[in-house]
Amino acid sequence: MRKRQSLHRALLAATKTMVQGGLSATSRRCGKRTCPCAHDATARHGPHLYLTYRENGASRSLYVPPEGAPTVRTAHEAWATFWEIGCAIAALNRDDLRRAWQAELPARTPRVRRRPRA
Ligand SMILES: [Zn+2]
Repeated sequence: MRKRQSLHRALLAATKTMVQGGLSATSRRCGKRTCPCAHDATARHGPHLYLTYRENGASRSLYVPPEGAPTVRTAHEAWATFWEIGCAIAALNRDDLRRAWQAELPARTPRVRRRPRA
């Protein structure tokens, strides 16, 4: 139970900053014909950081200004943490279901060995 409570606290903490999506650094042409980037791939502008995500089935990206890079990286890591904690809580819930169903219906699961209580 204490483990579950600490997981819930960590999950809630992650929700405060988490952002779902990928991070990609991209160099681009500016579109001016007279700019060196128009003819030289090494003269492209950037790299610039983008947060990429899907919304209503469409790929989207959010430009991240240089000063926002540390924030978006932290937010990206918070999403990964949120996901990991969610999976850990789901595993605890699954164990609860297993215990409940095995206690109710021992005759239907004769070959399943019960694990000793931790
Ligand atoms: Zn340019």
